Amino acid sequence: MSKRNLCKGCVESVMVTEEVIQELVRETEEDLSVIVSDEIYSERLKICESCPSLQYGTTCAHSGCIVRYRAKFKNKSCPFTGKPKWEKVG
Ligand code: SF4
Repeated sequence: MSKRNLCKGCVESVMVTEEVIQELVRETEEDLSVIVSDEIYSERLKICESCPSLQYGTTCAHSGCIVRYRAKFKNKSCPFTGKPKWEKVG
């Protein structure tokens, strides 16, 4: 299983530790060509933090993804049905 696909369906529990999240985020930075700029990342996370679909402060109710991980990737968008709150880049 690729760690790039980690989400609540792939980890033992939806409740993930800060340590696990930090490790996932660090791993995204191994390939800078696939991740967004720090500015875009911050903007995306601000949107998630004010979104009612954010669960446990970490996880999107629509995708099951840890938002601090998903928001790193250029090819990911917010999965909110019909009106993504942030878009793919490039
Ligand atoms: S990814 Fe979209 S729907 Fe999910 S928490 Fe963030 S803003 Fe909300």
